[in-house]
Amino acid sequence: MLRLFDDGNHKVIVYRDLTPKGAVQSNQAIIVEGETGMIIDPGGRVTFTPLFSKISKELPASKFRYILLTHQDPDVVGAIASWKVINPDIKILIPKVWYRFLPHMLPSSGDLKETVIPVEDEGMELQLGDIVLKLIPSHFLHSPGNFSLYDPVSKILFSGDVGASLLPPDQDYDFAENFEEHVKYMEEFHKRYMASSKACKAWVERVRDLDIEAIVPQHGAIMKGKEIVNAFLEWLYNLECGVDLL
Ligand code: FE
Repeated sequence: MLRLFDDGNHKVIVYRDLTPKGAVQSNQAIIVEGETGMIIDPGGRVTFTPLFSKISKELPASKFRYILLTHQDPDVVGAIASWKVINPDIKILIPKVWYRFLPHMLPSSGDLKETVIPVEDEGMELQLGDIVLKLIPSHFLHSPGNFSLYDPVSKILFSGDVGASLLPPDQDYDFAENFEEHVKYMEEFHKRYMASSKACKAWVERVRDLDIEAIVPQHGAIMKGKEIVNAFLEWLYNLECGVDLL
């Protein structure tokens, strides 16, 4: 468990070690703001039980107001039915293009509008307690409907699969220290999974003016500090990937 920010009222916690062997390692995160909170990419069935027990120590699970699903992959949405069962009032945010697919995962398909907030293509601002979070489009990185989340209090950008690294299990580390060393664990994944250079450039242009202290991707190590954040943005801006290489 990594407590990236905690001022007593606002907390950001990332869980990096809940994925069992054999499943792609995935990070889960929570933002707690006073008496409310949000779960970001909770992962699939394999992470549900440990994550539920861990987050309950920070805030009762019934008090979490939102779950953000940055896109539709199994390692993001796989346990959504269980989260809904333990907290029937929680609102699920999902890219609009994936909205109609979600009933396949939910305990009952009635009242989708009561349960799910489809995030429009242009993104949105989201009130959580006293603060306003930003949902930033990251379409085609890698999914056709995909969002990043920016928390202006901790200055953390939750980037989904953007900036993901697939680290060898025996060399896993929580924070990437040296970009030149780290990039080899990102390169193959981004070249294959990210749609195109045009999509990468569009995302970098949307986020580069934010005040970012850390990037928390859905897989692999966290990039903390302006130096590595800027090195990553520069690398991604110039990357050829996806259909560029077809
Ligand atoms: Fe994915």
